[in-house]
Amino acid sequence: MSRCTVGRRTELSGTGLHSDQATRVRLEPGRPGTGIVFRRLDTAERRDIPARLSRVALTDRRTALRVGTDRVDTVEHLLAAVYASGIDDLDIELDGPEVPILDGSFAPFVKALAEAGVRLSGGAGTAVRHLESPVDLVEGEARYRAEPCDGLVLDVELVYAEPVIGRQSARGRVDREWFTREIAPARTFGFLAEVAQLRGRGLLAGATEACAIVLAEDRPLNTTLRWPNEFARHKLGDLLGDLSLLGFRPRARILASRPSHRGNIAFARTLAAACGLTEE
Ligand SMILES: [Zn+2]
Repeated sequence: MSRCTVGRRTELSGTGLHSDQATRVRLEPGRPGTGIVFRRLDTAERRDIPARLSRVALTDRRTALRVGTDRVDTVEHLLAAVYASGIDDLDIELDGPEVPILDGSFAPFVKALAEAGVRLSGGAGTAVRHLESPVDLVEGEARYRAEPCDGLVLDVELVYAEPVIGRQSARGRVDREWFTREIAPARTFGFLAEVAQLRGRGLLAGATEACAIVLAEDRPLNTTLRWPNEFARHKLGDLLGDLSLLGFRPRARILASRPSHRGNIAFARTLAAACGLTEE
């Protein structure tokens, strides 16, 4: 399995969900074997920020990466699309602090990557790692388990007291076609009742009705759902984006109950250790 990158440069523009900053993202063919690397063009340092677990800075309502003082927020939707598109080497340049939220789903990133095309990057073979025996992790309310498997299978369960979500699940074997069809259109979501509190913590400054499903306890307030279990499908995509920070393609069946970004990252670290990798 050879390493791949995009066939040509492509760009997306939009506003950051938490920063409210207009940002242009440029996806460039990556140098062979270098992995996924973010770079801020609006900072003095312009440091390379590898999309790796060792660079995770924040997991509060989004995943953020940092090297030195250069930080990039809300990387998970773009990274899930990159992983599912089969891309291993990619340079991601931004002129702002946060990947744009767009419609709150993974689909705009999948579409941009599909239009850019995929080609061999010339790097040595894709890093695939097999899991030898099951591993488990409990992180707050989140529970995770990974079992040996011949591909990557994700199985996500949500349990909410609010009946608009309730108990629901989503699962599937990760490949480009399945992700594009079954997961990519699923949007992020939040409860209207939480908005004021999150804004008080400096989050959601860029939130609009066009970039998320806004929920009352018993119904969506601003849109109709794309699937009854759109919430579980979205959380599955978030999990994939966070797991992509492993820097290899795990061969495992992964069950996640009540996942969170914090739990996803903690579990990815457990999985890296179980696969014989320590963080660089
Ligand atoms: Zn998300």
